[in-house]
Amino acid sequence: MGVPLRQQLTVAGYLLKQKLKGVKKYPMVLMLEPLFRCNLACAGCGKIDYPDEILDKRLSFEECMQAVDECGAPMVSIPGGEPLIHKEMPEIVAGIVARKKYVYLCTNALLLKKKIDDYTPSPFLTFSVHLDGLKERHDASVCQDGVFDRAVEAIKVAVSKGFRVTVNCTLFQGETPEDVAEFLDYAMELGVEGATIAPGFSYERAPRQDIFIKGKDTKNLFRDIFKLGKTRNWKLNHSSLYLDFLAGNQNYQCTPWGNPTRNIFGWQKPCYLLTDEGYAATFQELLDDTPWEKYGNSSNPKCAQCMAHCGYEATAVEDMLQHPIKAFITSIRGPKTTGPMVAEPTPKWATEQLKPRKTIGGIPVKVER
Ligand code: SF4
Ligand code: SF4
Repeated sequence: MGVPLRQQLTVAGYLLKQKLKGVKKYPMVLMLEPLFRCNLACAGCGKIDYPDEILDKRLSFEECMQAVDECGAPMVSIPGGEPLIHKEMPEIVAGIVARKKYVYLCTNALLLKKKIDDYTPSPFLTFSVHLDGLKERHDASVCQDGVFDRAVEAIKVAVSKGFRVTVNCTLFQGETPEDVAEFLDYAMELGVEGATIAPGFSYERAPRQDIFIKGKDTKNLFRDIFKLGKTRNWKLNHSSLYLDFLAGNQNYQCTPWGNPTRNIFGWQKPCYLLTDEGYAATFQELLDDTPWEKYGNSSNPKCAQCMAHCGYEATAVEDMLQHPIKAFITSIRGPKTTGPMVAEPTPKWATEQLKPRKTIGGIPVKVER
């Protein structure tokens, strides 16, 4: 894992504190989404199809600090939109760093070189640069030529100035394991601290729906990537059990409160990925009023294909706390890449459909629950 020991210890201390206090639902990473406006228009994006009056809205510095304080998570991820467009972003980042929270500023890096001197290198600040593959693949993914070259140039500048830098890679249809392996080799050569890697979530709002990988194809792809990775030295910024989950070896339900989202509408129910489920006014209200049982890969058709780290990394960490020996063995051995995969849970909506329906005079009627 690429995460520095100091950060790992801080997060471990936070988790221990939650356990000792008997807290059942606690946040690990705040997803702070201060704007939806972006300077790209990627085919798989579920964030930018709002009207201009929404895209022009911003969370203020004060609102961002309030969200960070209210939530209390030890890590803050700032996705978007493109955060570097936000005029107050340097102050927002500085405010989070001053609170000794680890902040991941997720950027497509188009503005990074120009704006980098607005930021100060710190163990608490990481630029997480969006790169979905090598040049051809990435430029196709973001629907614009030349973006890969600019992102790579910005990464080199950021690394040379002493910033922590990671790459975040989302996988879509048509990936080959060899291409992904070559990309990860290249990313490590750039001197980044690590890479996050996950299958794209099939946003209903995304302009194209045919690009998302689904079901067993996802798990087989990850198995093949991890097979190639056995002889390489990739630093993947994920827990060993989340990687094992991606390879089809863990049967997890998501933990969406582990990565709560605050954006211009409020605290998003239930997670960063589902956009039409409503908002809470406060973090506590999000915890108390979200019908969590309605979500997850076996509870809701919208969640059926989800394997995103914002839903399952917290589950994997919880599993690691419950089963440290299993987690240790998996971290030494790496994800299992052969043998049967774990059975997927039967979706509740499928069993609902199989239930005999109440009829009156042979006509099905709605059953109140
Ligand atoms: S860079 Fe990110 S926020 Fe911008 S369009 Fe692409 S996926 Fe969406
Ligand atoms: S499975 Fe969980 S993390 Fe994924 S979309 Fe559904 S609620 Fe969100």
